[in-house]
Order: sequence, then structure tokens, then C-alpha cells
Amino acid sequence: MAERTIPLLDERTIHTTAVVPPQTIAADGKLLDRRGRPLRDLRISVTDRCNFRCGYCMPKEVFNKDYAYLPQSSLLTFEEITRVARVFVSHGVRKIRLTGGEPLLRKNLEILVQQLAALRDADGAPLDLTLTTNGSLITKKAQALNDAGLQRVTVSLDGLDDAVFRRMNDVDFPVADVLQGIEAAHRVGLGPVKVNMVVKRGTNEQEILPMARHFKGTGVVLRFIEYMDVGATNGWRMDEVLPSADVVARIHSEFALVPLEAAKPGETAQRWAYADGSGEIGVISSVTQAFCSDCNRARLSTEGKVFLCLFANRGHDLRDLIRGGVSDTDLASAIGSIWQGRSDRYSELRASLPADTTTTGGKRVEMSYIGG
Ligand code: SAM
Ligand code: SF4
Ligand code: SF4
Repeated sequence: MAERTIPLLDERTIHTTAVVPPQTIAADGKLLDRRGRPLRDLRISVTDRCNFRCGYCMPKEVFNKDYAYLPQSSLLTFEEITRVARVFVSHGVRKIRLTGGEPLLRKNLEILVQQLAALRDADGAPLDLTLTTNGSLITKKAQALNDAGLQRVTVSLDGLDDAVFRRMNDVDFPVADVLQGIEAAHRVGLGPVKVNMVVKRGTNEQEILPMARHFKGTGVVLRFIEYMDVGATNGWRMDEVLPSADVVARIHSEFALVPLEAAKPGETAQRWAYADGSGEIGVISSVTQAFCSDCNRARLSTEGKVFLCLFANRGHDLRDLIRGGVSDTDLASAIGSIWQGRSDRYSELRASLPADTTTTGGKRVEMSYIGG
């Protein structure tokens, strides 16, 4: 394969420094963005590193030994992350998902989990605290994470066939170890475990039915994600997207499915139950059916930048404010004004954008940097 070049412009360096607005923005949970969307979900990336090289996320030719990962000094500390999270919670966040890169590569992650698990919403209730992982280290860490207060995990797994899976993670990691990790998570109580499968037409679509058969009736919720045009390095092409409607049709041809109502607004997955009562599946149709209209998610990068959309090309830097001694009230106003200025709805607009906007263009941050 031809070497891909790293875009000369490193999108991580483009940002707007968050500012404290002149007026105080109340942290009363009533914050709305310019499209009337509340803030409910915060995804926190704890590392930009990963031990896998999934081609749709961190292709080997770009994320090689010369790639400049963030230095340790630029990462937010656990205390800084928890402080920012607390302010987000005061603005209405009810769900926190830890992600990366591979979040379990961040040393002592259970300490951060413990700090986040102690946060309470305005009604005194704990948050919905979850983590997305590639599953490679979960067998070792499941118990400690559960003890620290993590509620659930989502494990990414793109197929059951060992050769297909090894090819997709591109570091020759065996599928058996991830399956063991899923069981370990389930056993210690980090359930219901969700399993995310990114479907790439022509690469792993033949794994859809084996995956459905394997997890049906186990209590694990399998979710199929359309391959997305995130970042600028994966060489995304529309013809490699298998629409979720096809995924549902394939499963329905073997096991009857009935649609389920969304559990709560802003939920990314459309849910389907097996008609025989043996569980459910979900499909995340980010490409073929945009769900921007009730998108209530913000993302905090490893080094403290707030991204308002998965497809944003710049973040709002909070780290300078934090390290400059900002008060909690001012930090809340700064975050409030960032959210109030939000109008992102990339997936809705995708269809009308010039074709080359959806391919490699060096214009967006990578998913491994802001987290999925
Ligand atoms: N390393 C962890 C993992 O793989 O679960 C967490 C971070 S990963 C960026 C989060 C999620 O994003 C994973 O479920 C992954 O499959 C998904 N993802 C990454 N690149 C994607 C793409 N181009 N299209 C769709 N999903 C993608
Ligand atoms: Fe790593 Fe997750 Fe990206 Fe795969 S999807 S390269 S496991 S961060
Ligand atoms: Fe939310 Fe952006 Fe995805 Fe739309 S494209 S659902 S605004 S993250």
C-alpha cells in the first residue's frame, strides 16, 4: 500500500482559547445551544494512544513510530478532568463516557473512575458512568473498575472470525482474548455489556450474522455502527458504508426483529428486539440517518479541549483557563458560553457538502484524539 502522508497542518493545534464571558452563565442545567439542544452527555478522552491500529481509526501508515502523540505534561490530570466534569454536571450532564485512544492504557484509570463516580447531579443521583474499550486489557482490569464505581462498559469487536479480527485490529490481536474480556466484564457486574461492531462493506460484513448468533440470548447488547468519515486519515469512501437498514434486514432474515422505542432522547442507537424475547440489537446510522437534531453530546480531549461535534475541526481550550487559576463560577460561564454558541450538525449537512469534504482532507481531528 502507498504511504499516506501526515497532513502538514496538525488539526490538534488549531483551537479557540475558551474565554470567560462578561456575564455569568448560570449552571442550572437549563443550558441550550443555538438549536435548542441541552447538554447531557460528556465523552472524556483520557489518552490519544492505542495498542490497536484499526484501519478506520488509526491506520498504521500514519500512526507509526514517528507519530507525535501528546506529551504527558499536556494531558489533563485526573483532578483537572474531575473538576471540568463537575462543572459539566452542573450544566446538566448526566452521562459520562471514558474513551480514547484506548482508555485502559491510561495508568491508574480506576482512580479517575473513583473520582467521577463520586459526582452527583442536581438531584443527588450518581451519573451514568461508562467506558468504551477495545477489550484487550479488560480481563485484567474489570474488577478494579467495577470496585471503583464504573457502571457499564462497551467493548468494540468487529468480527468473530479470528483472521478477520486480526486483520482489522492490524496488530494481530486474537479474538479469543476480547471474548474473554467481554465475559469478565459481564461476570464482575459491568453490564449490560454492549458490543460495538463497525461494519465496513467488503471487509467484515460477513461477520454480521455470526456476531448476532453469538450474542443473541447472552444479555450482551450488540450494536452495529456505520463506518464514518471521522478524522482525515482513514481514506473513507461512501461505497464502504453498509447502511444500517441492510444490517437489520440481514438479521431479520434469520431472526425476526421488532422495533423498540428510544429509551431516552439523544440516544444514538435505534433499538430492535428479537421477537422471541431473547434480547436486543442496536444500529448506529451516523451516515445514512443523521441524529443531530437532538445531539446532546460534548467531548473533552485528552489535553482539555472541548469539541462540540465528532466532526469538528477545532476545539475550545479549557486547559489554559484551568491552569491559570479560573474560579468554578467563571469556568461554568466559559463552558456555558461555548455550548450556547453551538450550532453543529455535521451529519445532517453531510449530504449537501462537496464530495471531497467527506474524504481525507486534513481538516478534522482524529477520533483517537477526541474519543468516539
Ligand atoms: N479504543 C476504544 C475502542 O475501540 O472501543 C475507544 C475509542 S474508539 C475511537 C471508540 C469507538 O469508535 C469504537 O467503538 C470504534 O469502533 C469507533 N470508531 C472508530 N473509528 C470509527 C469510524 N471511522 N467509523 C465508525 N466508528 C468508528
Ligand atoms: Fe484503537 Fe479504538 Fe481506534 Fe481501534 S477504534 S484504533 S481500538 S482507538
Ligand atoms: Fe452530534 Fe455532530 Fe454527530 Fe450530529 S454529527 S450527531 S452534531 S456529533
